[in-house]
Amino acid sequence: MSSPVDLHLHSDRSDGRLRPRELVSLVATQGVETFALTDHDTVAGLEEAAEAARRHGLRLVPGVEISVTWCARELHVLGLGVAPDCVTLQGGLARQAEIRAERARRIGERLERAGVPGTVEEAYRLARDRHVSRSHFARALVRGGHARDMAAAFRQYLARGRPGHVRAEWVPLEAAVSWIRTAGGVAVLAHPHRYGFTGRWMRRTLEAFQAAGGEAMEVACAGGGPGALAANAERARQHGLEGSVGSDFHDPGNPWIRPGRVAPLPAGIAPVWRRWVRAGGSA
Ligand code: AMP
Ligand code: MN
Ligand code: MN
Ligand code: MN
Repeated sequence: MSSPVDLHLHSDRSDGRLRPRELVSLVATQGVETFALTDHDTVAGLEEAAEAARRHGLRLVPGVEISVTWCARELHVLGLGVAPDCVTLQGGLARQAEIRAERARRIGERLERAGVPGTVEEAYRLARDRHVSRSHFARALVRGGHARDMAAAFRQYLARGRPGHVRAEWVPLEAAVSWIRTAGGVAVLAHPHRYGFTGRWMRRTLEAFQAAGGEAMEVACAGGGPGALAANAERARQHGLEGSVGSDFHDPGNPWIRPGRVAPLPAGIAPVWRRWVRAGGSA
């Protein structure tokens, strides 16, 4: 299973492990022709990715994945086709970076109180003083011998109810969608099946997302299997949302997730990428 389109990928400008140009080289070997770099809350990797995409003859859709708060819940919204130099988008992401830094400080404090000192410093070191994420805390916990692997670090320390859990108050859903649109992009609700919502909450979420100006949702993405794919497809059709596909690739060390390893978009859903790719696939 290899898709010529993958609109959800991370580099080390957020919590991915590859530099943007390394990611693009890998993408090129996987049969992907059109891809989006969608780092969490930052557009810092897009320039390097664009340069590398040109060299490899690939089409880059400039993107970002913004964490938002809606009804006290966390959702992820992809902005696809955004202009990275849009001042509204950049101002919004700067605000988000402050929220992220404050959360990191609180996570460090809580871990320290739980008898695990020094993780915030190590997390920032791993993040090279830029975007610091829970993934960096998880890596710091593994390196410090406090957890066996990333999954265990999340389970033991960072998940809800654990000592290093902090609920962040991210930017509101409506604000993030509005920045994306101002930057000329389309807002896509990321991995809907991963929020653990019941059918009723999912409907409310999609209604709020559309009311805010969201136009598409990820239908095919990692995790969830065929059940999630079918359920997402049904939702997209019901709500008249365009569909996206993305691997959410972060780390070449994870054997289950590869760029381009996503199911094709089921029938009856308009592909969000028809905005950038003409039928037949060529530029
Ligand atoms: P943040 O944006 O700082 O809240 O970090 C969340 C990131 O942590 C996600 O984007 C995933 O890449 C990663 N993540 C979340 N849960 C897990 C988990 N259980 N195991 C490994 N990585 C995870
Ligand atoms: Mn991530
Ligand atoms: Mn996400
Ligand atoms: Mn992601």
